[in-house]
Amino acid sequence: MRKGILYVVSGPSGAGKGTVIKEFLPRHPDWFYSISATTRAPRPGEENGVHYYFMEKEEFLRLRENDGFLESAEFCGNHYGTPKAAVMERLEAGKDVLLEIEVQGAMQVMESYPEGIFIFIVPPTMEELRHRLEGRKTEEPSVVEKRLERAKEELRLADKYTYIVVNDSADRAAEEIEAIALAEEGRSARKFDFVKENLL
Ligand code: 5GP
Repeated sequence: MRKGILYVVSGPSGAGKGTVIKEFLPRHPDWFYSISATTRAPRPGEENGVHYYFMEKEEFLRLRENDGFLESAEFCGNHYGTPKAAVMERLEAGKDVLLEIEVQGAMQVMESYPEGIFIFIVPPTMEELRHRLEGRKTEEPSVVEKRLERAKEELRLADKYTYIVVNDSADRAAEEIEAIALAEEGRSARKFDFVKENLL
């Protein structure tokens, strides 16, 4: 049976990853979107088990000790991690999986699961990135500065990814990811089973 494809999406905070993914996911209701664990406090409107699994640091560290995460990283003072079992089970069952994680975590996945497809979403300009971060209004000014510094560090690593997508409009960027997914589906390494099973 065909194994699922693991897609990993990263990009600086404020690049609009969330918006692009919101455009993209409804077109693929069969994909599994991995919900991360975090020690960050919920923002207004965020729900446990929907946006994140919000947890205390002790619980997070215990899970990490017990090999419960596919990857994990510290980002601006908080821990984030991808629950491993849920992702691996879906891939084995043939489901495509999407992770939205920052670069340190993505690098870990590149090591442990190099057959994944790594997509880096960038803003069209740095002004636009600042504008989006400031417009969020859920972040203190010092946090915005911290996230902008962090964005530069992340952008330097974009060439490690399989694809780079410029988010000038969420709709267009989502279409670009759609095109990537279609092309990946058609790779002969994956599609040859179809030929063997149906045509030979
Ligand atoms: P935020 O606090 O804005 O929700 O997320 C901050 C950063 O953490 C974002 O870049 C987001 O992609 C990343 N992130 C969310 N979940 C995970 C995760 O499970 N692992 C890693 N490594 N990063 C994550």
